[in-house]
Amino acid sequence: MTPTREEFLHFSTGEKALFYVLIALSLAVMAAQIRSRIQLWKTGRPLEPIPNTIRHWVGNLSRYVLGQKSVRASRPRSGAPMHLLIFYGFLALTIATTLLAINTYSPVKFHQGNYYLLFEFTFDTLGLLLLGGLGWAIIRQATTKAPIAKHWSDLGILVLLLLITFNGYLLEAGRIANNPQPWDSWSWVGYAMAKLLPAVSEPGYKALWWFHIVLVMAFFAVIPQLRIRHILLAIATTAQPPERPMGALRTIPMEEVEQTEQVGSKFAKDYSRWHLMSLDACMECGRCTEVCPAWNVGKVLNPKQVVQDARAAMASGEALAPRITEEALWQCTTCNACQEACPVLIRHVDLITDVRRNLVSEGELSGSAAVMLRQTASTKSAWGSPTREREKWMEGREIPLCRDGQPFEFLFWVGCAGATDPAGMKTTQAVADLLKKAGVSFACLGQEEACTGDPARRVGEEFLFQDRATENQSVFERYGVKKIVTACPHCFNSLKNEYGDFGAKLEVYHHTQLLQTLVSKGQLLAAKPDRRTVLHDPCYLTRVNGEVAAPRALVEGMVEPEFAGAKTRCCGAGGGRMWMDEPPEHRPATARMDQLRATGATQIAVACPFCRIMLDTGHQDDSIRLVDLAQLMQEANSDSAPSANMEVS
Ligand code: SF4
Ligand code: SF4
Repeated sequence: MTPTREEFLHFSTGEKALFYVLIALSLAVMAAQIRSRIQLWKTGRPLEPIPNTIRHWVGNLSRYVLGQKSVRASRPRSGAPMHLLIFYGFLALTIATTLLAINTYSPVKFHQGNYYLLFEFTFDTLGLLLLGGLGWAIIRQATTKAPIAKHWSDLGILVLLLLITFNGYLLEAGRIANNPQPWDSWSWVGYAMAKLLPAVSEPGYKALWWFHIVLVMAFFAVIPQLRIRHILLAIATTAQPPERPMGALRTIPMEEVEQTEQVGSKFAKDYSRWHLMSLDACMECGRCTEVCPAWNVGKVLNPKQVVQDARAAMASGEALAPRITEEALWQCTTCNACQEACPVLIRHVDLITDVRRNLVSEGELSGSAAVMLRQTASTKSAWGSPTREREKWMEGREIPLCRDGQPFEFLFWVGCAGATDPAGMKTTQAVADLLKKAGVSFACLGQEEACTGDPARRVGEEFLFQDRATENQSVFERYGVKKIVTACPHCFNSLKNEYGDFGAKLEVYHHTQLLQTLVSKGQLLAAKPDRRTVLHDPCYLTRVNGEVAAPRALVEGMVEPEFAGAKTRCCGAGGGRMWMDEPPEHRPATARMDQLRATGATQIAVACPFCRIMLDTGHQDDSIRLVDLAQLMQEANSDSAPSANMEVS
């Protein structure tokens, strides 16, 4: 006898027909609900163009769905192992059911012989992953507090899935007890259960079978209503997210404004179709909230809630603000920690800044951030400094200027903070000295430099940013700029990821990257500070642009704080927050300083002028020295040894 098993054991033709009708009905209920959500998504803007679609799909599906990249990267207490058990167990049983359906309903019959034995053993084993994960999840749901969502339906769906899985094994045990075969031990879980159970009659087996079908029908019918729908939607969102880099915001075409007569998103329908679909894919896991610097210092901004509020606005048609409170919208630092943590790749920063754009266009921004916008427009400096001030840091130094007409390889882009903030100027001077020492061919724009427009764009003043980008790009063209180095990660991000929309074709380097190259070539020495030094990674260098190694290559023996590299915690300056007032107890910089000081370091190395300003206001401890990596390099490469007590601030 060839090992196999009979499908629809003891079932009459009428019973089979009833089964097909009921399953078709439950699938129709599910399809109708999904269709109504698709209608909602279709109210959004068309998708942004996505090149290399197949490669893009396969890559993202492998990384984020099959590889569960974001879930695996979560901290263990976030329930990642539990989620992995459920995912891989569910995937295994879905594959098993699909193979069985192909065998049953296609002319190809392969569910027999050694294949059958291997199939039974493998999927009996893998089903236990699902049972274990579901049991874990049920206990966790019943015992854990926020940020896990708490709703009776979450527990309900877990119990339903547990019942389906357990009843599947019971059904197998019933079949083995009712119709034993010599190869049944390969279905080892059902086989063991059959040994423990009393004999199962034909009606008893059928009752188990129909119970299983009722549970499966209920599952199909409720999936679209509950957050478990992410098992379907995560596949769709992760397959085809906007191809823009994490740090790039969408450039709004002027034609769009003329057509819609508005800027940004007022209603959910103003988001793209992908963004609307992603709202439904949210699994309410709370990973985004757990890492949000604003939420972690007691502010109202809760990125998970932003997604839920936007989803509610999509369903009701009400305006996004105040459905998402304005207070929350302005508290975002655009640090992208939420986005980096999100398993279904939701782009919170897009969601938030697009509403900001609309609010700014309707005159809803006031206070110091509005002053910053006016300053940027009138003086071309976010700090409102006069143009002549941009060359102040050069005093006493011979700095080549583009207008001198000499050829150069790198444009050294100084940035508003690097040109006018006293501490930022020290970094700028250090970088210039190092470039000269290493013999790098460079020049600065001096008075011809202007703000990149990054703070304006992230606050929501899109067209001020576009003015800045267009004008700066024309300056780059005039001087034939091909390579840029800058000590500001915000300028770095904007020039690298956003200026392409304005015709720029630039190689852009953060100063740590260029200095790393110079160290590796032996043109400069890495620093060996005599103080215990901790590195604070800037969001826009490490998380947003993936540069983790370069800062670490410049200074030997630095210690790592809690939350380093791509998981770094924001200082609170991005997204225009630098220009917004907040009480000390609500400053992300205060919390970050506590994490940095917990390492026992007396020196904090930074790589961003914004971080430096914020961290400096986040502590009152004079024994802590704040210093840019470039300054440590400058000391290491100067002819005289630096003083151990050198004052830098
Ligand atoms: S937005 Fe992403 S990280 Fe946040 S709760 Fe939803 S799925 Fe989780
Ligand atoms: S970008 Fe940063 S501040 Fe804004 S919601 Fe996300 S985690 Fe919070």
